[in-house]
Amino acid sequence: MPVYRDAGFELYDALTTADAFRKETEHSREPEMYIYSRYRNPTVVSAEEEIMKLEGSEWALLTQSGMSAIDTALSVFQHGRETRPWLFFTEIYGGTISFTESVLKSRRGLDIRNFAPDNGNYDLDKFEKVISDLKPEFVYIETISNPMLIVADIVNITTIAKRHGTKVIIDNTFATPWLCKPLTEGADIVIHSATKYFSGHGNLTAGVICGNDTKILQSAIEYRKLVGHTLSPDEAYRLQTQIQTFELRFSRQCLNASKLAGYLDEKSIIKKVWFPGLKNHTTHLIAEKLFGRKGYGAMITFDFNGKNKNEKRSRRDKFIKLVSEKIKLIPTLGDPHTILMPVEAVWGTKYPEPGMIRLSVGFEEYSELEGTISKALETIKG
Ligand code: PLP
Repeated sequence: MPVYRDAGFELYDALTTADAFRKETEHSREPEMYIYSRYRNPTVVSAEEEIMKLEGSEWALLTQSGMSAIDTALSVFQHGRETRPWLFFTEIYGGTISFTESVLKSRRGLDIRNFAPDNGNYDLDKFEKVISDLKPEFVYIETISNPMLIVADIVNITTIAKRHGTKVIIDNTFATPWLCKPLTEGADIVIHSATKYFSGHGNLTAGVICGNDTKILQSAIEYRKLVGHTLSPDEAYRLQTQIQTFELRFSRQCLNASKLAGYLDEKSIIKKVWFPGLKNHTTHLIAEKLFGRKGYGAMITFDFNGKNKNEKRSRRDKFIKLVSEKIKLIPTLGDPHTILMPVEAVWGTKYPEPGMIRLSVGFEEYSELEGTISKALETIKG
């Protein structure tokens, strides 16, 4: 696909122009005539087709970031004073939580509600009660949460939501369509930060929303166009190139993560490992069912043992230093190499164990990865 860098496209005469603008108001997935790249661009549409194939969706819309994808998806359900409450699970990306607080609640005055897990799992009876009392426009969930890696029982959550006329929006960034396709389970919209596994190289920022419903598509296209969230053709081109290797990369990342989680779980210096593939994870059975034992994602969170909080922090900091040649502290995920984040530095006291580290496992040679980590753990143990 060539990169169409044009801001505007030639329309030749007044009649064609009027016709193009009239048809544009129908907001079909692909326009008959291109008008202006903020509206639609052929290179962007071509990259969207790749994502439709992966997610098995009728349409996909690329945006400039995961956050602009979230804004586009949610805004479909905002209709002035008539807007019913919006329900967000609490275990979602911190940026999304901040967006709900400081944009949706404080600036737009929306009625934002939250639903929290109990002991590392979502209580679906409680969920049904909340939904039936509140009758929210939609419920917003992440397939695999961050950083505790709670897997949502999408099949049952969707069934319950539908029973009460509530739409379901799922951020599928951590699971990706390789593990699970929420639209086939009845979800209404799937969101991705394409910055992560779709791009896979930590070198571009993009987002995407996918769905099957034409009314949602039309509203989302209009919003994306008017707010200016559309992805640029250059970024779409790079994403389309990099997404060719998505399955190769992600399947290998999942495999590396499964091996590494098992390895870490055996180590006495490590107090706890959170990974949905481990039998001791609170949502292991849900993960097995939903992902069909294909894999469990490529994120691992673990905590150091220690006599007190200071010893845990000191072990965490030593580990970060010892592995830093090979495993960098970079605040993203889905990169080719394993990268890490200290949980306390990002989430503060939300997850109170100061030794916690979140790993985004890469697709490097597994023995090299385990070697780097085992050397660091041996040195810390002394
Ligand atoms: N959703 C999830 C699960 C994320 O982890 C992130 C970013 O880390 C986003 C959405 C936002 O994506 P972006 O940074 O591409 O705007």
